[in-house]
Amino acid sequence: MASRRLLLRGGTVVPMSERGLCFEGDVLVEAGRIAQVGRVVAEGEYETLDAHGALVLPGFVQVHVHVVQSLARHRAERLPLLRWLQAHIWPYEAALTAEEVAAAARLGIAELLCSGTTAALDMGTTRHQDAIFQTAQELGIRLTSGLCLMDSGEGVPQGLATTTEDALASAESSGQRWHGACGGRLRYAVSPRFALSCSERLLGESARLAHRHGWILQTHASENREETEAVRRATGRGNVEFLDSVGISGPSTVLAHCIHLDAQEVTLLAQRGTGVAHCPGANLKLASGIADVPLLLARGVRVGLGADGPPCNNRLSIFHEMALAGTLHNLRHGAGAVDPWTVLEMATWRGAEVAGLAQVGRLLPGWRADLVVLSLDAWALQPFTDPATVVVYGGGVESVRHVVVDGEPVVREGELVTAHASEIRRDARAAATALAARLGWE
Ligand SMILES: [Zn+2]
Repeated sequence: MASRRLLLRGGTVVPMSERGLCFEGDVLVEAGRIAQVGRVVAEGEYETLDAHGALVLPGFVQVHVHVVQSLARHRAERLPLLRWLQAHIWPYEAALTAEEVAAAARLGIAELLCSGTTAALDMGTTRHQDAIFQTAQELGIRLTSGLCLMDSGEGVPQGLATTTEDALASAESSGQRWHGACGGRLRYAVSPRFALSCSERLLGESARLAHRHGWILQTHASENREETEAVRRATGRGNVEFLDSVGISGPSTVLAHCIHLDAQEVTLLAQRGTGVAHCPGANLKLASGIADVPLLLARGVRVGLGADGPPCNNRLSIFHEMALAGTLHNLRHGAGAVDPWTVLEMATWRGAEVAGLAQVGRLLPGWRADLVVLSLDAWALQPFTDPATVVVYGGGVESVRHVVVDGEPVVREGELVTAHASEIRRDARAAATALAARLGWE
């Protein structure tokens, strides 16, 4: 548990405890939690982070990323989902050594932290999952992740899928090793990849494993029309309906995408309290479609945001996802379809709730001290009006000044402080070059 005392001094605080609320003030952090918000008179020893001319917000939360895919960024272009997986992503994931997983995770996590994302739900890797957790431990992000499980599927390369028994045993031992580590900053998610690469038994047993341990359960669902039709051919059901039938649903379950749903499946998501990860950037790039988020929200479905993988976005910036979530749905529903406060809530406390993170996503006394300080100097942030409007439509990674996770500064003055950024870039380039040669990528 962190013991540091921090004072974020002189900012415009947007606590996300109620819509529209912002005020000039300070935030005092003690032992990893928010101690005071407002006008703070702190006594004793503390470290100061300057927030003058800046917004102080809860750290951003992403509910669907794949940091392991970072070394394949800018490599897997102009393809729809299934061919993108079969031609590039699966061979890439099958080829990764533990060192390369670490290099990929360091790149992805550094990007997340430097762009203000303090907590992420990560789909993990098919092998060498320890390297992801070790990297999260070192770099300081709040990460929920788990072995990406696969035991079948068309076009899955040798070495990627395991037996059902191995998948479940590895997931359980990995979860027992990592869930709750670093004072609860690291958490385990049972992560079967998707219905087309998992047997029905693996899906059902994954759900039971997650429920037995109280771990989050995550998978992909109804991302792509071809995928959804294949699930219907194999099971006679819609993708979300099928997952529900094997136990993959409920408040501790997160389904990424949920684009191609029928009315009954929307009702099912709402009734069960299942969380949805909305990934507009990846959905546009892979031409997957547009999830009907205004409909989901109107029906009471819990929705968070995620950048998905670096090769299908090609960035991990929450600002990109927020701008898209705040504009894309106007095409179907008209201007103002998802208002900026709802978008900012999806990127903070709503996302935290979807990912099962308690007391994360709002700046309230006693809550976890995950914060981001956004400088208001950028041209697109002028002139300042409503904070949600400014951040959602004008915000960008260049505005990130300081980032704090669990009371510990991880980014100061825009620079990562928990690792050497130049080494992360150098190692990522070297690993990506070596992988490209092994995989025969041009
Ligand atoms: Zn994904």
